[in-house]
Amino acid sequence: MQTNLMQADSSGILQAAQLLKQGELVAIPTETVYGLAANAMDGTAVEKIFAAKGRPQDNPLIVHIDSIEMWKTLVVEVTEDAKKLADAFWPGPLTIILPHNGNLAEQVCAGLDTVAVRVPSHPVAQKVISESGLPLAAPSANLSGSPSPTEAKYVLQDMQGRIPLILEGGSCEVGVESTVISLAGKKPILLRPGYITKEQLEQVLQKEVEIAHAVTHILEQGEKVESPGMKYKHYAPKAQVTILKGNSLQYQQYLQQHNHQGVAALCFEEDAPAMQVPFVVYGKENDPSSQARELFSALRKLDENGAQQVYARCPAEDGVALAVYNRLLRAAAFRVVQL
Ligand code: AMP
Ligand code: MG
Repeated sequence: MQTNLMQADSSGILQAAQLLKQGELVAIPTETVYGLAANAMDGTAVEKIFAAKGRPQDNPLIVHIDSIEMWKTLVVEVTEDAKKLADAFWPGPLTIILPHNGNLAEQVCAGLDTVAVRVPSHPVAQKVISESGLPLAAPSANLSGSPSPTEAKYVLQDMQGRIPLILEGGSCEVGVESTVISLAGKKPILLRPGYITKEQLEQVLQKEVEIAHAVTHILEQGEKVESPGMKYKHYAPKAQVTILKGNSLQYQQYLQQHNHQGVAALCFEEDAPAMQVPFVVYGKENDPSSQARELFSALRKLDENGAQQVYARCPAEDGVALAVYNRLLRAAAFRVVQL
């Protein structure tokens, strides 16, 4: 299959909507990362997503919609808490899980009785949804396990020959996937941290939001997970990544002691001037949003540079930085060294 890269102008959007209505896949920019979209009402189309990504069949997809009206056609009930969160954070990088009503293709929810939904804020994603008139199942547009794409060129790297169209919409502003919260149980539970933080969610809900254990901990054997995606390897570049927890000076000292062939640093902008080994920067030390925006492209650049062993500066573990820490932990397969 030939993969076309089109500008996300009106003719690109029209072409995307047509392909989606025909049951084909299209990669589209969103504010989080590029998404690999298919008609969420069409099981055959949704199966193509799993095939193109090599995604495990039991890992459900997030459905992208353009209105609360569309949401109501997919779920049993838009609860009061769900409405509060939607009013506060949509359109935007928040995914809300509720019991579904069986209207969607069953492959989307991978056999679960709940569905994850969000309204993206990216104008291109919004236009593709409204032009097609369809709810779109859209996971990140990378091969399963590799870093999520924040630029169209990285989608092409992974999806060339696998999908007919990629819409070019520039770099993604948020850079990490949406926050995922489940409102399907007794208590709200944060399944994946993102740009919308636990504290922001609690402020709107006026109740405590629990963070799922697997967000920051390696799974114990036989441990039950709230979200199937937690079981799988994620975001890993080819290089082996190790997270170093410590201050800038300790980090530099460790790198000097481990300055072997193939070693590279994944560091903050402030670390760069003193760096003695090849390095790629991901954001500023006290600006977690910049770390989120740059992390995935930095991981891809390290591979492009041929790094074999990457030592990463550790982000903070709260607020937006929790999302960065969560992705980096998975990229590092939970290898952390306390300095
Ligand atoms: P991605 O599509 O790659 O952004 O990943 C979506 C994430 O949301 C995965 O970790 C899924 O396991 C999770 N997810 C999607 N739908 C559900 C659901 N109904 N219940 C729990 N987790 C879900
Ligand atoms: Mg993904």
